Amino acid sequence: MSGAKRLSWGDLTRVLRALEKEGYEVLSPQKNRWGDWFPEPGLPAGWPGDFQNYAYPFLKEAVFPLEEPLFSSGGTGFVFHAAEDRRLAFFGARPCDAEALAYTDLFFTGRFFADSRYRARRRNLFVIAAACRAPCPKSFCVAAQAGPWARKGFDIQVYPAGGDWLAEAATLQGRRLLSAYPDVRREDLLRVRRELEGLFPAPGPLPRHTVRDAARTGWLGARCFRCGACIWLCPTCTCYDQCRFGKDGVKREQDPCLFEGYHRLAGGASLRPTQPHRMDFRYECKFGVGACVGCGRCSVGCVGYAAMEAYLERPGSRAT
Ligand code: SF4
Ligand code: SF4
Repeated sequence: MSGAKRLSWGDLTRVLRALEKEGYEVLSPQKNRWGDWFPEPGLPAGWPGDFQNYAYPFLKEAVFPLEEPLFSSGGTGFVFHAAEDRRLAFFGARPCDAEALAYTDLFFTGRFFADSRYRARRRNLFVIAAACRAPCPKSFCVAAQAGPWARKGFDIQVYPAGGDWLAEAATLQGRRLLSAYPDVRREDLLRVRRELEGLFPAPGPLPRHTVRDAARTGWLGARCFRCGACIWLCPTCTCYDQCRFGKDGVKREQDPCLFEGYHRLAGGASLRPTQPHRMDFRYECKFGVGACVGCGRCSVGCVGYAAMEAYLERPGSRAT
C-alpha cells in the first residue's frame, strides 16, 4: 500500500467542495483574455490541459506579500496592521512552487527565527499540488529535485493517471480529506512518477557556486540592469526590508539583493560595492543553501540575459 488514492475528476471536485465547506476559498488556474494564468476563486469544470505554471509566484505571495503595512503611528498612538485572516486552498500549485514553499517555511518558521505574519498566513493555506507533464520554458526543476512531482510543501499532491488522478497526502488534514477514496498500490504510484519523469529532459548536474567566482559573476554583473525582476519572480527569495510609508506608517517590502541599497551599511559603506559582488552573493544563496527550485521564471523575466539561464549556460559553470 502506498498511502495514495485513486480519484476521478468528480471525486477531486468533492475534495475541493469539502475544503470550501471548511471555510477555504479555493483558487484554481484560470486564464484571462490575454492568455495569462492567475489563481482565481472557483472550481474549474475540468483540469486545464494547457496550464503549465503561473508567470508569477502566487503561492509565495500568499504567505509573503510583495509589500505589507506593519504599523502606523497616528495621533491616537500605534496601530498594528494584522496579517489578513483568509483561508486559501491553492488547487493546481506546481511542484516547484510547493518545494519553494517548503523552503520559505524553513526560512520564516525555522529554528532561529519565527515570523508571526508568515506563520498566521501559512496556517490558513492548504496546498493541492499537481504533478507536471511538460517542462516550463527555461526550467530545470528535475535537476533541482523539485519536479515533475513535489517531495514536500503540499497537503495533497495529485498525479494525472489515464482519465483518473492518483492522490497522496502529506498532512493529517490531507489524509482526512482523501480517506474515503480507494487505495492504490505503491508500484502504481512509482510507475506514474517514472512516466512523468520520462517526459522531461534528463537532468544535468547543477553548479557548485564558490564565493567570488569572478569568471561567472563578472560577466553576469556587467549585463544586469538592476531591475529586480528576477528576484520578484523568484518563489524562494525571502529578503525584505522595513521602511516608512505615507505620513506615519512603516511597511515591509521584498528587497532584491541585486540592488545596491540592500548591501549598504550605516555611514554609506557597502559590503558588496559592485554588481559582480552582488551577483556572487545571489548565486551563493541560490546554490550554496539550495534556494533554487529551477522554475525558470527569473530567466523568462530577465531583460539583460543575466539570470539563471545565462548563469547555467556560461561555459564551465556546470559541475562536472
Ligand atoms: S533563482 Fe530563478 S530558477 Fe531558481 S527558483 Fe528563483 S526564479 Fe526559479
Ligand atoms: S532580471 Fe536580469 S537585469 Fe533585472 S535585476 Fe535580475 S539579473 Fe539584473
